[in-house]
Amino acid sequence: MTFEEIKTLDEQYVMHSYGRFPVALDHGKGATLWDTEGKEYIDFTAGIGVCSLGYADEGWQKAVAEQAAKLAHVSNLFYTEPYARAAQKLCTRTGLSNVMFANSGAEANEAMIKLARKYSFDRYGKGRGTILTLRNSFHGRTVTTLAATGQDKFHNYFFPFTEGFRYADANSLSSLEEVAGHDVCAVMMELVQGEGGVLPLEEAYVQAVADLCQKRDWLLLVDEVQTGVGRTGTLFAFQQYGIRPDAVSFAKGIAGGLPFGGVMAGEKCREVFTPGTHGSTFGGNPISAAAACYVLDRIDQDLMDQVKEKGAYLRQKLEELELPCLGPTRGLGLMIGAEVRGERTNQELAAALVSRGLLVLTAGPDLRFLPPLVITREEMDKGLAILKATLS
Ligand SMILES: *Cc1c(COP(=O)(O)O)cnc(C)c1O
Repeated sequence: MTFEEIKTLDEQYVMHSYGRFPVALDHGKGATLWDTEGKEYIDFTAGIGVCSLGYADEGWQKAVAEQAAKLAHVSNLFYTEPYARAAQKLCTRTGLSNVMFANSGAEANEAMIKLARKYSFDRYGKGRGTILTLRNSFHGRTVTTLAATGQDKFHNYFFPFTEGFRYADANSLSSLEEVAGHDVCAVMMELVQGEGGVLPLEEAYVQAVADLCQKRDWLLLVDEVQTGVGRTGTLFAFQQYGIRPDAVSFAKGIAGGLPFGGVMAGEKCREVFTPGTHGSTFGGNPISAAAACYVLDRIDQDLMDQVKEKGAYLRQKLEELELPCLGPTRGLGLMIGAEVRGERTNQELAAALVSRGLLVLTAGPDLRFLPPLVITREEMDKGLAILKATLS
């Protein structure tokens, strides 16, 4: 089908919940994509941080195809090897000790919220179900994770929202203490805020929050849906912050392009979910789990070193361009943002870049770059040349 044919069908039959770019993507290799008309794009998005190994990775294809040929799905009332192996890999590489799988970031966060509330209920009974989150955060699109998201613009239309969330300013311990209370069971945060505009939290602040959580028996919940799976230069971002969270959610990049996610927790939470208290029909799907095993095996020290180097290279080159429409870069590893300045909005800049062959994301007031972790120097240079030609 041509782009125009696809667009006509989509506009007639699909709910208009996305403002799409005028491009129909068809196939990819590495960090390069082609549309239905054969035009090439350099990808600084990886979906939205999903295609960690880029497109059409051969080992990933093999892992997925072999599992698809063997067993695509079975209910969670039975054991499967991919589920157990993926859980083992996550635990042995993070020091956490037990995992439950889901299918998306919002669902992973729902599980993490339920885990914290039941942990507290089991110990203290009712009335201690409030979770503190940060302003400018993003935790998902379900009714509960929208409530957890600390941005007013997400608290519209879908009333009533789930109760039991209060918001504190990022990087301010006193703000957190102000909204604290006897009804709190947990603090939930992204270590680098993603959708709200790329904003890394300060290490000293995060460690102080961890201490406070310990003191009050609040669970420290870290949403690593975007920062996880090598994106920031370590398998999970918390491993760079000198903390040990009670629970960590993940999704996006974990299965290299298939829907997958979950929550992993420390020993404290091992007995919180008991049979019947939480579940998911598709969660832990064998094909996605096999893909996750492959992705986790590929994210070794060497790839993590490369992510740090590539992130530093991209940021340095971006700053050297001295584009009048972009402020200084922020970020960690290959999670990079730059504030948009001047007359054109970040949406307008993104549209201009896409039309010239570079896919980028927006976040808050920023342009945001989340390239596949395997992007090559040559692909980065091509993308930077498009940035320069389009935005100078
Ligand atoms: C994307 C994102 C989510 C939501 O993930 P979905 O898979 O879209 O439900 C939650 N938290 C963070 C930090 C995210 O970046």
